[in-house]
Amino acid sequence: MPTDPIVLARDLVRCPSVTPVEGGALKLLETTLKAAGFTVHRVTLREPGTDDVENLYARIGSAAPNLVFAGHTDVVPPGDEKVWTHPPFAGEMAGAELYGRGAVDMKGGIACMVAAALDHLAANKGKPKGSISFLISGDEEGIAVNGTPKLLIWAAERGEKFDHCLLGEPSNVEALGDTIKIGRRGSLNGHLIVTGKQGHVAYPDRVDNPIRGLVTLIEAIQAEPLDQGTAEFSPSNLEFVSVDVGNKTVNLIPGEARARFNIRFNDAHTLDSLKKLIESRAAKAAASKIKFAFKWEPSNAAVFVTKPGPFTDMVRDAITKATGRTPTLSTSGGTSDARFITNYCPVVEFGLVGQTMHQVDERVPLADLRALTAIYREIIDRYFA
Ligand SMILES: [Zn+2]
Repeated sequence: MPTDPIVLARDLVRCPSVTPVEGGALKLLETTLKAAGFTVHRVTLREPGTDDVENLYARIGSAAPNLVFAGHTDVVPPGDEKVWTHPPFAGEMAGAELYGRGAVDMKGGIACMVAAALDHLAANKGKPKGSISFLISGDEEGIAVNGTPKLLIWAAERGEKFDHCLLGEPSNVEALGDTIKIGRRGSLNGHLIVTGKQGHVAYPDRVDNPIRGLVTLIEAIQAEPLDQGTAEFSPSNLEFVSVDVGNKTVNLIPGEARARFNIRFNDAHTLDSLKKLIESRAAKAAASKIKFAFKWEPSNAAVFVTKPGPFTDMVRDAITKATGRTPTLSTSGGTSDARFITNYCPVVEFGLVGQTMHQVDERVPLADLRALTAIYREIIDRYFA
């Protein structure tokens, strides 16, 4: 039973599924997929101290290969609804565009995946040659704890095997077909704490000002680039985002000074090797004279890349056939759920154009919804050919 991607996108936008609320979005997918013969699981995931979140896994077919479409139905809040030209959860269409929160990030993308899969099934007696699955999180825009990472574990425990995954996040920059994301940089937050000896500012010989030490270490850590970039990535970057002493007094030298920083890093590093590199730069500059310590925040954002090969070529060729554009294979931008999926199978990201995502008047051209459906359909056809 084919589904119109525009109608499905509109109906999904009408579900007010601001994280962690389900809002009817998964129910709608469940109904649509069940009608096409999918086995659908609604999976509620929990963690103490966080909201329970509903997720969905659906599969048709039991044979390999299993092509997985991944995404999320939760959306960021609309902000002040009065400044929207069309209400954020009304699913109104104007000027050949669909307006609403989630139109591009990423209910529009999900509607296209579902429509493409159902088209493919309708053209193939309702059965894929292998399996087609949907891995849909309800917790991507929030803290991302009760979504994809746990849903992947749940699926693995059931014995689900994934061969390739297409994550439908809005990957394109300007026009549909300009960018496939094949990886993401990692992200690591750290604190640098320098300890001195507090005392009267008029008696510097009796104190040890930690601000001097902190400045020295900040200098040393940033003196050299972290790397020169790699085949798939631009150079890693470290930025100090705050320097804090919290001293409100003028005649007191503080006992401690702190700085915070973030590193966006490429596949020249791992989380561990990066920490060692930063710590060794600090130790060298400190020369046993500056007392310092690092505190690293836990990071679930390691770097990953799906190396260009037959799968990325196939996705690229399908995009070119439908749009005439040759997409760039990019690793730029922030992190996404692909960083979790990469531990289970190769994953690439391709969806709508990201320009209006998270903004007031988020909207998608209806033509893009049709074109993305055609691209996904082409990918499915080629995958099972
Ligand atoms: Zn998204």
